[in-house]
Amino acid sequence: MAETVELPSRLAILPFRNKVLLPGAIIRIRCTSHSSVTLVEQELWQKEEKGLIGILPVRDDAEGSSIGTMINPGAGSDSGERSLKFLVGTTDAQKSDAKDQQDLQWHSRGVAARALHLSRGVEKPSGRVTYVVVLEGLSRFNVQELGKRGPYSVARITSLEMTKAELEQVQQDPDFVALSRQFKTTAMELVSVLEQKQKTGGRTKVLLETVPIHKLADIFVASFEMSFEEQLSMLDSVDLKVRLSKATELVDRHLQSIRVAEKITQKVEGQLSKSQKEYLLRQQMRAIKEELGDNDDDEDDVAALERKMQAAGMPSNIWKHAQRELRRLKKMQPQQPGYNSSRVYLELLADLPWEKASEEHELDLKAAKERLDSDHYGLAKVKQRIIEYLAVRKLKPDARGPVLCFVGPPGVGKTSLASSIAAALGRKFVRLSLGGVKDEADIRGHRRTYIGSMPGRLIDGLKRVGVCNPVMLLDEIDKTGSDVRGDPASALLEVLDPEQNKSFNDHYLNVPYDLSKVVFVATANRVQPIPPPLLDRMELIELPGYTQEEKLKIAMRHLIPRVLDQHGLSSEFLKIPEAMVKNIIQRYTREAGVRSLERNLAALARAAAVMVAEHEQTLPLSKDVQKLTSPLLNGRMAEGGEVEMEVIPMGVNDHEIGGTFQSPSALVVDETMLEKILGPPRFDDSEAADRVASAGVSVGLVWTTFGGEVQFVEATSMVGKGEMHLTGQLGDVIKESAQLALTWVRARASDFKLALAGDMNVLDGRDIHIHFPAGAVPKDGPSAGVTLVTALVSLFSQKRVRADTAMTGEMTLRGLVLPVGGIKDKILAAHRYGIKRVILPQRNSKDLVEVPAAVLSSLEVILAKRMEDVLENAFEGGCPWRNNYSKL
Ligand code: ADP
Repeated sequence: MAETVELPSRLAILPFRNKVLLPGAIIRIRCTSHSSVTLVEQELWQKEEKGLIGILPVRDDAEGSSIGTMINPGAGSDSGERSLKFLVGTTDAQKSDAKDQQDLQWHSRGVAARALHLSRGVEKPSGRVTYVVVLEGLSRFNVQELGKRGPYSVARITSLEMTKAELEQVQQDPDFVALSRQFKTTAMELVSVLEQKQKTGGRTKVLLETVPIHKLADIFVASFEMSFEEQLSMLDSVDLKVRLSKATELVDRHLQSIRVAEKITQKVEGQLSKSQKEYLLRQQMRAIKEELGDNDDDEDDVAALERKMQAAGMPSNIWKHAQRELRRLKKMQPQQPGYNSSRVYLELLADLPWEKASEEHELDLKAAKERLDSDHYGLAKVKQRIIEYLAVRKLKPDARGPVLCFVGPPGVGKTSLASSIAAALGRKFVRLSLGGVKDEADIRGHRRTYIGSMPGRLIDGLKRVGVCNPVMLLDEIDKTGSDVRGDPASALLEVLDPEQNKSFNDHYLNVPYDLSKVVFVATANRVQPIPPPLLDRMELIELPGYTQEEKLKIAMRHLIPRVLDQHGLSSEFLKIPEAMVKNIIQRYTREAGVRSLERNLAALARAAAVMVAEHEQTLPLSKDVQKLTSPLLNGRMAEGGEVEMEVIPMGVNDHEIGGTFQSPSALVVDETMLEKILGPPRFDDSEAADRVASAGVSVGLVWTTFGGEVQFVEATSMVGKGEMHLTGQLGDVIKESAQLALTWVRARASDFKLALAGDMNVLDGRDIHIHFPAGAVPKDGPSAGVTLVTALVSLFSQKRVRADTAMTGEMTLRGLVLPVGGIKDKILAAHRYGIKRVILPQRNSKDLVEVPAAVLSSLEVILAKRMEDVLENAFEGGCPWRNNYSKL
């Protein structure tokens, strides 16, 4: 550490080119020039005690400096020593002496230095001697005179160090105290910053505490990199106060520059690490995707989605909403929860037909009528009503007429009529099945906050159909029901209300959708379950079911050609004669519509397709082989009407098959084939006769969702306590009807002394059991009243009812027969069963006009006013009690 030393009056001078050695600093220099090597050799190397030399800054350029004083060599000469023209080699350079001589400007102040270490080297191959010297700066001096000693310079100097007394005096100066405090603070700060960076472990701080402040200033400044000018000015700061303030300024500047540099580094590092992190993650993601074979790029997907959204033509408010959602999606990572749901939602927004519509051409009523006629047989009234509906739409396209609702049993053509309406209007058709919908959310969707939420059926249907103006069929609108999860009917009401459906609100979609361009058509099996407000919005068109003749025509004209076509056959391959179709209608189906008929025809077509295909295979084979394969097929087909076989596409060997089957020997369905394929007949006309073969059974007509049905009622009695048992899937109303019937019979029995008719006591000690077979048919409604009484009378009188007679009607406690609904369906059902006589309530006579004339003419209709009229006609030879009550 620099300490105060006595300086000699002369010092050998080593010039320091463009550099300054400050007291307290340590430098290592290499001396190579002749002058400097000589200086080191003579002044340091050869002396036993390591001597002092002076280090004097020299300016290398010719321009001079404004700072400090520079002296010219040879400006003064010392006594006994020549002032010499000289040459000074720098510590480590080898400039030519001549050049140096011209350019060098010597500073007037220097620093005495002590050699701490010397090492001598010899350069090979030149043999030149060089020295490496470690020097420590000790104290400032002033050059009085500069001269030469051999090749190097010497100077007469005066020390610039203060004496102890002077120093003490300065230390009293308050300015100095303030300045030194300021310097220390700044220096301390710098040390802390440096220590943080370099982890020097507090050594520099110790230095700060122990070294006198005026020396510290030099030491600190010496350790920074700074310009030559600044170094010079520091060297020239002989006055302690000046030195301190200069040093404070320099230390502070250094501190700031370190801080700025640090900040910049931090920033750069931060940025780097973030982008590097992202890069790494993306690399990993790509690798994972590659591993999974999932190469589609999410960014591309989002871009594609955005394009799709732009093309969707959303109204501006919805577009804004979608944009907001898209921005959210873009900020999310695909792995983030919510990304997928947000995406699916946006896909829906993009897929929904906001403005895409089927082009509506000018409605041609004649063509529409032709189309309806060509698609459907009969149904004149229905078709007429549809044409009226279309005509109104033609005149006033935005007419808000009621919604058409087709009501009737399954398979009567409700759906196909609706699709014909769509075809006539030139619009797309979409069917929404509402059967079993009990939750309002099925119609309106779930809010997106629910996990697995989805849009409602309406919005889903629109997405599927892809246009905003389709014909939408609300199928089975009577099968919706309300429960705790809300009332789907109220949502449907909004859908069907022209005032409200302009801005239909789906909970999932969460933005209004305009349903006003959609044409709604509904279907229902029954009217009763439809909630009245909904019913109010609809115009009902009833389709009662077909007679056997109608079914035959429908089959021959529509079903058979369609079924053949669907199975890749034509009438050249398969012929189903009328007689066989009739057979199917009568003995294999018993329905109001033509669904089952169509299914049976399809079964025939499937079997025929197998035969044709098999024939193809067997052609090249011998007859023996054919014999082997046929029983196989026969076995399969005999399983029943619902033979499930795959449709084998035709046309591979068209010419060959054509060649085989174009011959007059096309496959013609006969009775044997019918039985083989469809199994034994399921129904026959003698069923009623067989069922009523014993007393206590009567034949009723009921009305179900499948249309009219024939319903047998069986009653029996046994010894018991006078109780009544009812079985066979019954509703509450029918139970009451049974109770009523029994009461009436009992009352009558005592009046008419019925007990006398047989040997039975009706009133006492007997239980009655009434059963309604065919439990799968849900039975409700009071229309079984007369049938129940007839069964009981038959039981008690032990007289069989007529097998050819069926009845329907409600009965009061006093025995009046009240009218019931569904007369047309019931008569059609009786007709299907081969029933010849039908007993109806008198007040239902007005309903007979709706019954097709062909059916009516094949039946005898008996109208009854009172229960006695029914009984009179239900039994062969009149009512078994007639004798009794005729006495009254
Ligand atoms: P629904 O909707 O009433 O249950 P569908 O419309 O599905 O009945 O009809 C069942 C099948 O019967 C369809 O293939 C339909 O074309 C056919 N069909 C029903 N009625 C007729 C008819 N009058 N003329 C021609 N085909 C009919």
